[in-house]
Amino acid sequence: MGQAKNRGTLQVRIEQAKTRIDAIRPKKIICNDCKGEINEITDLDVRGLIGIRGAFAGICPKCKSSTFAIDGDPEKVVDFMMAFEASMGKGSEIGIQTRNGEPVEE
Ligand SMILES: [Zn+2]
Repeated sequence: MGQAKNRGTLQVRIEQAKTRIDAIRPKKIICNDCKGEINEITDLDVRGLIGIRGAFAGICPKCKSSTFAIDGDPEKVVDFMMAFEASMGKGSEIGIQTRNGEPVEE
């Protein structure tokens, strides 16, 4: 019980969130278009998105297309994907997969 008073400070929460993201961030994303490996991975802010544990984006060094890897509940991942595509505008080509590199079914 001695630790209770230290829990929940902003600093601790930030550290915990960072550790959690580090743990689930994929080492690489497989490009949805050319299947090339993307090693430059950007964390997306998913705070407030229920059911989404982490979202990561990478731009393929070969074909320049964007691929996202999302970790979360399957139906929430689809929601996220559809909202993201809508926000990117019609005709945007975004590949989305789970962080294990599996394609996400719409
Ligand atoms: Zn590619």
